[in-house]
Amino acid sequence: MKYAILLGDGMADRPLAELGGKTPLEAARTPNMDRIAGTGLIGLVDTIPEGLKPGSDVANLSVLGYDPRRVYSGRGPLEAANMGVRLESGDVAFRCNLVTLGGDRLDVMDSYSAGHIGTDEAAQIIADLQRSLGSREFQFHPGISYRHLLVWKGGKSSLVTTPPHDITGQSTMSCLPKGEGEQAILHLMRDAAPILKDHPVNRQRIADGKKPANAIWPWGQGLAPRLVPLTETYGIRGGMISAVDLLNGMGVYAGLKVIRVEGATGFTDTNYIGKAQKAIESLEEMDFVFVHVEAPDEMGHAGDINGKIKAIEDFDEKVVGTVLKGLEGLRPYRVMVLSDHPTPIVLRTHSAEPSPFAVLSSESGENSGRGTVYSEAEGSRSGLLLSPGHHLMERFILGRLHA
Ligand SMILES: [Zn+2]
Repeated sequence: MKYAILLGDGMADRPLAELGGKTPLEAARTPNMDRIAGTGLIGLVDTIPEGLKPGSDVANLSVLGYDPRRVYSGRGPLEAANMGVRLESGDVAFRCNLVTLGGDRLDVMDSYSAGHIGTDEAAQIIADLQRSLGSREFQFHPGISYRHLLVWKGGKSSLVTTPPHDITGQSTMSCLPKGEGEQAILHLMRDAAPILKDHPVNRQRIADGKKPANAIWPWGQGLAPRLVPLTETYGIRGGMISAVDLLNGMGVYAGLKVIRVEGATGFTDTNYIGKAQKAIESLEEMDFVFVHVEAPDEMGHAGDINGKIKAIEDFDEKVVGTVLKGLEGLRPYRVMVLSDHPTPIVLRTHSAEPSPFAVLSSESGENSGRGTVYSEAEGSRSGLLLSPGHHLMERFILGRLHA
């Protein structure tokens, strides 16, 4: 059996007045996901356990079958694994965003991504931060676009930190790191400011009318988690295809091969078809593939209704459609599409309510074929709710969803 999970990050949403009471998923043209839901089955999955923040880290751990309440330790260490940064015992890894602060006193979160700064530009900045501020205790490692890593050897992991995409347009004053070790991190943030202010990359960005990366924002910290590899749990070999460090790192801890795709950006210009083709190629050798597409989530954060609809349509046509076609040559198969968590346009950040999933099997006996479409409302109407959501993976692999 070949298994494919196709995940549109943050696709799920809430009804919007601008769309006549439809959600972006309902407004988008999605014939391929509709076919999976209509021929196969649809349900809701509750990926965010109560008390945990609705992040992609928590949600995707659930999707991969891990109970986030037991294994979750922050997104920093997951991203470190993807970047090939080995964490020693006691190392605390932070996601370190390059951000743009605005306002007269530079205390407003203008852009959590420094205007989606380019990877090459960011690499020069991170290299200079490491040269000036790196030490035996603190190390900066470059990642993709605005997403970087800060490792604090023997650091404090219990700090309260805030995801910068949650405070877009808001004052940062009440959202700075708090708790044991806060002074060390605040010092680092302060010391970075003058280096960033005069950095040639930022001067050029300002001259080009782009947002400068004028601050660092460490968050999502934790120690390395321990995940039982999927090979051990289900006896399957598989791969992870994502442009996002977090997902690739989770793949590393889950024993998946991280498969790189040229032109995969984590944004709406991503190489959708390349990802899908790579997924099919990988399935010729492996049992399982997980394809993650970040673009719908980014459009949700941007509050861009049309952009989100377009990202969903691209995901449906280029990823889901291409994989469905390719799977026909690889029978028997089981394929699932889902959203890890909603990123409602009205909130411009993640929410914790369940998201719809849909599964189609090449074994017709596994399909319930109720003829519905893929949407939040149809997931709810199905009466199938997997909560806690980490049971979804086992039932998907074993083909026990329709029971
Ligand atoms: Zn997500």
